[in-house]
Amino acid sequence: TGVQELLLSRIRDVADYPEPGVMFKDITPLLADPAAFTALTDALAEIAGNTGATKIVGLEARGFILGAPVAVRAGIGFIPVRKAGKLPGATLSQAYDLEYGSAEIEVHAEDLVSGDRVLVIDDVLATGGTAEASLRLIRRAGADVAGLAVLMELGFLAGRSRLEPALAGAPLESLLTV
Ligand code: 5GP
Repeated sequence: TGVQELLLSRIRDVADYPEPGVMFKDITPLLADPAAFTALTDALAEIAGNTGATKIVGLEARGFILGAPVAVRAGIGFIPVRKAGKLPGATLSQAYDLEYGSAEIEVHAEDLVSGDRVLVIDDVLATGGTAEASLRLIRRAGADVAGLAVLMELGFLAGRSRLEPALAGAPLESLLTV
């Protein structure tokens, strides 16, 4: 569609970042273009409406940039899921494995409660490790997962199939797949 072409045209490929052999998808040109950023926000807000989401969770850091305007547009709350050690209040945390080592994400425990339907938003779905940990965190908080929405899915990394158990039937919506 026209929106997809617009979005794709504003994502820049950066070779060998953050390490040799990786082709990084840089979304900063899209953020700098108000027509593209608005089209992206509208598309994600439509997904929020269709999934019946009552809260948006954004994944640090680009999920904050994309998720916050969606929450405002949809008229629902925004909840940050942060890397460990950044949130001041009582948190729930979830560890997950990286290619080398591990990482941990956290959410304020009081921000997610039973009865919430949460749409998780991030920019890029790669291996799915970050998204999988966030879905676990949301369910452990007692909330329901309305879905996961990303700007771009890197299909060759098979994050979608990895996420199937954690999604448990909730939709994974990617606006672009490469
Ligand atoms: P995953 O856990 O799916 O392997 O990695 C996804 C996380 O890393 C997301 O939070 C995403 O922001 C970041 N990420 C991985 N690859 C890229 C990329 O090529 N471009 C951007 N913008 N983010 C990426």
